[in-house]
Amino acid sequence: MNTALGTALITGASSGIGAVYADRMARRGHDLILVARNRERLEAVAERITRETGRSVQVLTADLGRAEDLRRVERVLREKEDISVLVNNAGFGAVAPLVDSDADSMESMIALNVTALTRLTYAFAPAAASRGGGTVINIGSIVAVVPELLNGVYGASKAFVLALSQSLHHELGEKGLKVQVVLPGATATDFWEIAGHPVENLPKEWVMDADDMVDAALTGLDDGELVTIPGLPDVALWDAYQSARQTLSGNLSSSRPAERYLRTPAH
Ligand code: NAP
Repeated sequence: MNTALGTALITGASSGIGAVYADRMARRGHDLILVARNRERLEAVAERITRETGRSVQVLTADLGRAEDLRRVERVLREKEDISVLVNNAGFGAVAPLVDSDADSMESMIALNVTALTRLTYAFAPAAASRGGGTVINIGSIVAVVPELLNGVYGASKAFVLALSQSLHHELGEKGLKVQVVLPGATATDFWEIAGHPVENLPKEWVMDADDMVDAALTGLDDGELVTIPGLPDVALWDAYQSARQTLSGNLSSSRPAERYLRTPAH
């Protein structure tokens, strides 16, 4: 069996988008390490993929919100040099307004969506780049650019994923690390039930099938995109947004306050 493509480690692979990534990565010729909390569901995904593709699939049960479990997965990423792809997909969201949400639950969201994703990236990306390559796929969300849409901490966590991915590409892209951040819109998975708003309650024309979403994202990866938004019909809109950001970036820091602030403040 050809393992030249190396192993893909996918978090949140027991259901939804992560399980589709597992399937597609195996069909592309990768062996797999699948990470999530629910062993039974992980093993069912692994068994089906092995049967259908013949690839080697290892299951790693871990709660990435718990420090000791996270460190265990980091160790695997550091020690197994044949890992060539990291898919940071595990995450959860909420639809409840920011101010009505429980701070402990928001902290758990940050632990998974931000801290775990960051630590796994650190465990993989610099070493992969020094080996001459590797791919990091980070699953963000369209709420990264529209934090008003769902719960604000969820939006902020995905804005972090977008910014981290852009920075990672900036620092390691030229050293051979391929970075992609995917910003899915509403996708038909358990996410919505867990977030407190069953997917059936959304307008059908908003909701993409998880298979279609991942296939589109992988096409974007093959095209070398840094940011892929599967549901965005006209990519020129994103390009204009990025171009406005570039224009801003040269104008944000100055030794003098801007003219509009140069009046005596009222006391
Ligand atoms: P999902 O079906 O609920 O999948 C979430 C996955 O993450 C599951 O495999 C779950 O497995 C795993 N997970 C949750 N908590 C975990 C923890 N503490 N430690 C380890 N694994 C954990 O939802 P999904 O839609 O596929 O979500 C995947 C990603 O897509 C998330 O980052 C989400 O924010 C993003 N996304 C989703 C949508 C959407 O509309 N569905 C849109 C934009 C972005 P276990 O329960 O077995 O741990």
